[in-house]
Amino acid sequence: MRVMVAGAGPAGLMLAAELVLAGAEVTVVDRLPRRSPYCRGFTLNARSLELLDRRGVVDRFLAEGPTVPYGMFADPSRPLDLSVMDTDHPYTLGIAQTRVEELLEEWLSELGVTVAWGHEVTGFDQDGDGVEVTVRTGGGHERVRVDYLAGCDGSRSLVRKHAGIGFPGTPATAFGLLADVGTADPSALPFGATEGERGTVFVIPRPGYVRIVLDEPVPPADRDEPVRLDYFQRVLDDTLGRRVELVDPRWLTRFSDAARQADRYVAGRVVLAGDAAHIHPPAGAVGVNVALADAVNLGWKLAATGLGYAPDGLLDSYHRERHEAGARMLRTTRAQALLGRRDPGVDPVRELLGELAGLPPVGRYLAELTTGVSTRYDPGIPGDHPWLGRLAPNLKLVAGGERTSVAELLRPARPVFLTTGARALPENARDRVDAHHVHCPERPDLEAVLIRPDGHTVWVSTTTDPQPADTLTTALATWFGA
Ligand SMILES: Cc1cc2nc3c(=O)[nH]c(=O)nc-3n(C[C@H](O)[C@H](O)[C@H](O)COP(=O)(O)OP(=O)(O)OC[C@H]3O[C@@H](n4cnc5c(N)ncnc54)[C@H](O)[C@@H]3O)c2cc1C
Repeated sequence: MRVMVAGAGPAGLMLAAELVLAGAEVTVVDRLPRRSPYCRGFTLNARSLELLDRRGVVDRFLAEGPTVPYGMFADPSRPLDLSVMDTDHPYTLGIAQTRVEELLEEWLSELGVTVAWGHEVTGFDQDGDGVEVTVRTGGGHERVRVDYLAGCDGSRSLVRKHAGIGFPGTPATAFGLLADVGTADPSALPFGATEGERGTVFVIPRPGYVRIVLDEPVPPADRDEPVRLDYFQRVLDDTLGRRVELVDPRWLTRFSDAARQADRYVAGRVVLAGDAAHIHPPAGAVGVNVALADAVNLGWKLAATGLGYAPDGLLDSYHRERHEAGARMLRTTRAQALLGRRDPGVDPVRELLGELAGLPPVGRYLAELTTGVSTRYDPGIPGDHPWLGRLAPNLKLVAGGERTSVAELLRPARPVFLTTGARALPENARDRVDAHHVHCPERPDLEAVLIRPDGHTVWVSTTTDPQPADTLTTALATWFGA
């Protein structure tokens, strides 16, 4: 089973790793000659860290930057307390997106896949058996036949357009400008938010430079027109109402509040993940994180489908689950973008929401929503156990006399059945599901739990809420085939 992944951003790299772990043969191509040095994002959230933990690589990322136990929803002066979240990683990790990509690429190469830089997907034809992909390389065009093509090729995705997948949503109404620059006098502009005469200027310290972000007061005639230093300088001075001289520009760009979502994440043998499937305002800083979540949901399902052991509709569940999660993320980031506007009409809403966010249950709800910790998928079986559909908690366990944990047992990216002895995995599921006999001191009521490769719980039985054996049979058939 061969998959071509178009795009070596966070979505493509993570998806490729997940596919390899699940037994697929993977090629990753990217049209750039090498990784872009320009860094868009700076954060990994709790859910991403949980997912990386379940693959045994989270420590590499945690070693890279500080963790911050607070986030922001509406009002910068009222941070959200992340330490109250139900997760092993109740914080945001500060890490450059470029570093995230380098670490993912390193891990992927340990799994045996090297990114083919300088290879651009320019078209494809799909039929019932596979996809014939045209790839432009330095030496011309190649035709490559694969079983599936994954479009992880960013917001302007050629794969999405060529597959005829719609991208409905709301067009850009407001624009922002970003500059990675130096200042002639570093004391002229403090880090953080500065209220100027005509707006707010955000300054983020970076090694050897600063990132300045501000609103673009007049929408550009051509949004693809490069942002020049003299233009950025003028907007900065106007916003502040004083001159702060900028020097040594590294990267200047613009972004918008456009929000769109692909109407299908799966079209025959073509799938989409990451920005190719959804774009949203940068408020909330979630793009990389949602890209990783898409990839981890998709990898095992696509591999099982291509390798021929997936139950009917497994790949469609990728669209169902991640489209719903993406729609929720779009709603949240659009709300955050609106609340960030300098508009007296919005001020009372921001203040009221800020006050509400200070109430512990609301604060926790918003923290778990914005970081994806509360993401829940329909497990397909009845039941109201709080774990059902959610990422299984990282329980500390003893198996075969050795200490282990849920995260450690999920590292091979296979379905996992944990039993304390009261329940057994049916014989006919043992080729597809890893069964472990465990002792779980922190949950003495646990009888057994069935966990998907992406870490989500699809069946759980406890002494206080024992589940009949036929519900386990249904869960196994729904997710891993009869
Ligand atoms: C200003 C700004 C700040 C941001 N800050 C944050 C933040 O703090 N935290 C966060 O989580 N997110 C942030 N984001 C969002 C984040 O950068 C994106 O959501 C993320 O990069 C999406 O990853 P991706 O892999 O889907 O796409 P991309 O990272 O865009 O990767 C797509 C890749 O596909 C390649 N490609 C494109 N077309 C082709 C083709 N035809 N053939 C082959 N290869 C192709 C591209 O070269 C690229 O390498 C920010 C975004 C912006 C604009």
